[in-house]
Amino acid sequence: MKSDSKLVSLDAISPADVTPTPLFGLDAESLSARMASLGEPGWRGKQLSEAIYRQWLTEIAEISTLPKNLRERLVADGWQIGRPNIAQVFQSVDGTDRYLIQTGAETVETVWMPEGDDGESGDGTEAGAEELRSPSPQQEHRAPSDSHSVRSKKMAVILSDPERSEGESKDLLLANSADQVGSSAPVRSSRELPPHGEWRRATICVSSQVGCAVNCQFCLTARLGLQRNLTAGEIAGQVVSVFARHGVEVGRDRVNLVFMGMGEPFLNYDNFMAAVRLLVKEVGLSPQRMTVSTSGIVPGIERFAQEPPDVRPKLAISLNAPDDQVRAEIMPINRKWNIEAVVDAVRQVQLRPRERITFEYVLLAGVTDQPAHARAVARLVRRTGLPAKVNLIAWNPGPGIPYAMPAPAAIEAFRATLAGEGIPTYLRKPRGRDIYAACGQLKRTVEG
Ligand code: SF4
Repeated sequence: MKSDSKLVSLDAISPADVTPTPLFGLDAESLSARMASLGEPGWRGKQLSEAIYRQWLTEIAEISTLPKNLRERLVADGWQIGRPNIAQVFQSVDGTDRYLIQTGAETVETVWMPEGDDGESGDGTEAGAEELRSPSPQQEHRAPSDSHSVRSKKMAVILSDPERSEGESKDLLLANSADQVGSSAPVRSSRELPPHGEWRRATICVSSQVGCAVNCQFCLTARLGLQRNLTAGEIAGQVVSVFARHGVEVGRDRVNLVFMGMGEPFLNYDNFMAAVRLLVKEVGLSPQRMTVSTSGIVPGIERFAQEPPDVRPKLAISLNAPDDQVRAEIMPINRKWNIEAVVDAVRQVQLRPRERITFEYVLLAGVTDQPAHARAVARLVRRTGLPAKVNLIAWNPGPGIPYAMPAPAAIEAFRATLAGEGIPTYLRKPRGRDIYAACGQLKRTVEG
């Protein structure tokens, strides 16, 4: 069927003239259906998918596989392929970047951690002797200010967003981390990390909601409350935006995704899993390099257990306490689904060979970090009968949160007790604490 739409020059289109039709977030099948509705062959949808999710193009005019008149028609009809824009960048002295990513009127937070935080340790995706990844010439061109000398200046620097095309660019605030919390922020020695801009592996922490309704007492994000669910495109778009910024080569680079940013993924289940399917089937990532963390939403875990292995990420349970009493105090969700109910649901997940369930455990001084707590956690993990490991996280401070960081000696004693009890135990390195990028610190804020 031939279209009777009028062909309009690309230059003649004003965005105000048409209602935008965003395509980012649709899979190849849906894109094919959209193309078919215009009388185009279905395989044009595959070309669109390739352009959006593999080439990471942001303008329809750039899709060279589509005929020029079709591109003009799509633009005239308001079709858009762009991923969410990175609105602001906060860079930590430890190499971590915290991004505010524009999703409609709001922003959500996404964190890039070169070298990861060791949360992936013990799950089969640890770094080996990988080649050091240097910034590509394109990256160096895009981010000329991304150098240690710039970061080390204790002043805010305004620079252009490298994600935006010419004409769209706007000045962004690059907040120097040292301004955010002062010089007492604990950071890793720069000698432990490759030079800035170079990385051997990386982890991206992805948000699933704007804010969160779960109300964990130790978490800064909880203070926002739930504002809204993110769409599948907004969740997957965080990953593609960060990939594009860092020049990630899918299939070559060792990048892990953790769905542990703002929000509870299993309270936005359909959009979360649709995003995972996009990332696996359209972007080309392995679900075994993805981990989703839940506070223990039992119906969500039960649905997750039914997902086919080719799109199911690994599962982490945010345990954080040795028993129901302590857990209910710091995680009110435990009153609805207690530890036993959560573990029962987790048992329904068919694990892959060598796959383990991760129990995340936040150490709060005096509340969850005592030797008796460690022994109780060891008993609890053994009782589950699950192949499991424990990731310890020293609590990250946030303004107005009434807990204290555990002492280094308490952290080590806790780790040693669990390890001594035969529980595989890993200590997650704090990343980006100085820019409020660390676990439990994400809050849509620029003031720090
Ligand atoms: S820890 Fe996670 S689930 Fe709990 S309030 Fe924070 S974002 Fe929500």
